[in-house]
Amino acid sequence: MRLEFLGAAHTVTGSCYLLETGENRYLIDCGMFQGAKRIREYNYEEFAFNPADIDGMLLTHAHVDHCGLVPKLVREGFKGTVYATQATCDLVRIMLPDSAHIQESDAELMNRKGRRRGDEPIQPLYGVDDAMDALKQFAPVPYDQELRLSDNLRVFFRDAGHILGSAILEIYVKEGDKETKLVFSGDLGQPDQPLLRDPTIIHGADFVITESTYGDRLHQLYDKETALIEIVNETMDRGGNLIIPSFAVGRTQTLLYYFYRLHCEGRLDPDIPIIIDSPLAINATRVFLKNFRDFDEDSLKVFGKDGKVPDFAQVHLCETAAESRALNT
Ligand SMILES: [Zn+2]
Repeated sequence: MRLEFLGAAHTVTGSCYLLETGENRYLIDCGMFQGAKRIREYNYEEFAFNPADIDGMLLTHAHVDHCGLVPKLVREGFKGTVYATQATCDLVRIMLPDSAHIQESDAELMNRKGRRRGDEPIQPLYGVDDAMDALKQFAPVPYDQELRLSDNLRVFFRDAGHILGSAILEIYVKEGDKETKLVFSGDLGQPDQPLLRDPTIIHGADFVITESTYGDRLHQLYDKETALIEIVNETMDRGGNLIIPSFAVGRTQTLLYYFYRLHCEGRLDPDIPIIIDSPLAINATRVFLKNFRDFDEDSLKVFGKDGKVPDFAQVHLCETAAESRALNT
């Protein structure tokens, strides 16, 4: 067995591992490098392997720093299946075309600037067509059920509590009579988060490959609902508008959940409109509601057994560019 670290080493993005076990070659994640230009340039380098030689991929979750290079992988000859949980498969359907769209418009902008200087045009990292091709190779896997990839390789996806659909991978590799258990943490959530279940406790492993983004710091635990409503009230009392920059997947839904709880507790003024100004965040919210069965117990009480959206009339969705512009004025 051989394990190579091809990303998220000395940096926190671009997660990618190559696991070779006798006859099998599997990737764990194939993420985009994000951040400083020096880091982003890794995205344009050749893969350290031939994508056509890879049998398949195991994807921990739908964040772009874990799945963002799958369209490039497919364009360069990867024919295998990408295994991920159902919610992850649903989320990549919006994340990858969105990422491709960003790649295309970034390249267009740079070419417009470059043309004036007489530079050669650059190609986007990948386009929307590549993303659509890649999506055909995804296959959903249920949590906690054995996925047998070969006689010598089996995998379990365990809830990582990081974003909806996120998974810790428990991989068993058999070599002769010996079985080795590898655990890839993926990104890990904290316990007691809204909507999400707590990260699964894994019992025993021969090797643990863990994320360590916040490994050197203690997260503060505090009453986030109260902190949020204090900011809302302070801003409204001064006659202001509160603008919350928020990740489209995960954070937006957490905020909506907090606002809903504050509304139920009578702590939120019902005359304050809450506007979601992002088609990506709105689509991600729809994916969350479709996969409500993955929510934790407290949230299931709110959404009932059928995942029905609770009545929350002060939330408005801003889905078109025209609506977004109107909001600015
Ligand atoms: Zn993540």
